[in-house]
Amino acid sequence: MQDGFGRKIDYLRISVTDRCNFRCQYCMSEKMTFMPKSELLSLEEITLIAERFISHGIRKIRLTGGEPLVRRDMKDVIQRLGRKVKSGELEELTLTTNGSLLTEYADHLADHAVRRINVSMDTLDPDRFSEITRGAKVETVVDGIAAAKAAGITVKINMVALRNFNEADLLPMAEFCAANGHDLTIIETMPLGDVGADRTLAHISAEEFLAPLNDQYTLKPIPHRSSGPARYVSVEPLDLRLGMITPLSNNFCDDCNRLRLTTDGKIFMCLGHNAHVDLRAAIRKDGITAVDQLLQQALKLKPLRHDFNAQLNGSAEILERHMNVTGG
Ligand code: SAM
Ligand code: SF4
Repeated sequence: MQDGFGRKIDYLRISVTDRCNFRCQYCMSEKMTFMPKSELLSLEEITLIAERFISHGIRKIRLTGGEPLVRRDMKDVIQRLGRKVKSGELEELTLTTNGSLLTEYADHLADHAVRRINVSMDTLDPDRFSEITRGAKVETVVDGIAAAKAAGITVKINMVALRNFNEADLLPMAEFCAANGHDLTIIETMPLGDVGADRTLAHISAEEFLAPLNDQYTLKPIPHRSSGPARYVSVEPLDLRLGMITPLSNNFCDDCNRLRLTTDGKIFMCLGHNAHVDLRAAIRKDGITAVDQLLQQALKLKPLRHDFNAQLNGSAEILERHMNVTGG
């Protein structure tokens, strides 16, 4: 598949639920309302849509949310899509998770062809972790990461950079990742959905956030690329690979290769735009073949770039959609 700008599209992110057992301050408001369950795609719908997309050229699928592992039939979702990897139809099935349920899921993921996962953890400090997630315990996440590693899964840690909050946590996090063989990715905050706070206060560029690490270690650009938009450096002599996702300070849209399937069955072409097509409505009315034509329409809707900078500086409207619905 190619979009209107000639970019090859082979990567699908599926938000399998908008629900979550955390309430990270930059992602959700404290009193978040979730969709009625009837709005969510069923296990069958997710599987059928994924199959259709694979037949059109999707080679990698990432499951995300909300917290994907809180979905009740998540083991079945993993099993069904894992089969596509085992049969060679799909190159890779991955997951982004807050890590809190990994001790229960690690072996199941490994058994069903999930070889890499991303775990989000913004600090190792128990009090600050509890503050940013509004009540979660960092030990459960650290234990979950260890369980995934023990099951043979490669774990990358995602850390959102937050001004005046977790700058001092970067060095301990880098050392933890280096000691345990995890890559670390720093993510700049993106303005999505009303989270009941002023985001400009929390925003910090990855470059500024990395300054303390730069003072202590040597950071060298390396050519490594994952399937996402991160750019990588090596941190020496720590022997750490560090990625940066910099939607605001350094636009990476030129080689965007992805589509996003929302919890309620819409295809969004960009995290930072509202252009979408409604697959769920079409397949509930006309059956699964409706996907084929809508997919072609969707490809034409993919914008060249996101508008996050304009949204953050107030010259464009903040998108109402929260990250948990579209999937991070
Ligand atoms: N619950 C899972 C997790 O936390 O990893 C998966 C979904 S979460 C929405 C996916 C990623 O998006 C996480 O790494 C999270 O830190 C990040 N995220 C959420 N809201 C964000 C925002 N406003 N700006 C930047 N990253 C955000
Ligand atoms: Fe939940 Fe992930 Fe959002 Fe945190 S970032 S509230 S863990 S969906």
